[in-house]
Amino acid sequence: TISMLVLDTDGNLSGGCTTSGAAWKMHGRVGDSPIIGAGLFLDNEVGAAAATGLGEAVIRTAGSAMVVELMRQGKNPEEACKEIVERIYEKHKNHRDMEYLQVGFIAVNAKGVYGGYSLRSGFNYAVYDEQQGNRMEDAAFKM
Ligand code: ASP
Repeated sequence: TISMLVLDTDGNLSGGCTTSGAAWKMHGRVGDSPIIGAGLFLDNEVGAAAATGLGEAVIRTAGSAMVVELMRQGKNPEEACKEIVERIYEKHKNHRDMEYLQVGFIAVNAKGVYGGYSLRSGFNYAVYDEQQGNRMEDAAFKM
């Protein structure tokens, strides 16, 4: 999945995401990316979030919508992403395919504070920032 979250100079948020889906997927499978609230969600007054990883797990938790909801309650973007990654982990930790589970989120709030959190290490995201320079960030991770 490739997702993009944008905060413009007028304070408006937007986002998009695209994916090739899951390997060996069933014909007709719909992943999380095209479902608003799962792979992508934003509320202009709060923030925006997007997901990567096992779409079924993200859909079941309404992952991106929940990340935005946690930011509404006062969590910063990384904390909000972490809570939903850990919620997904708790629901799947005894599953026989757990070793293949990956899920991660990026988020930005309406003030421009951003963060990411991933179940697995190696999840990087790019930040385009005219004032402080463009850079790559490593998302914090659980495993
Ligand atoms: N989230 C995607 C899906 O389940 C997979 C990915 O992250 O590339 O369709």
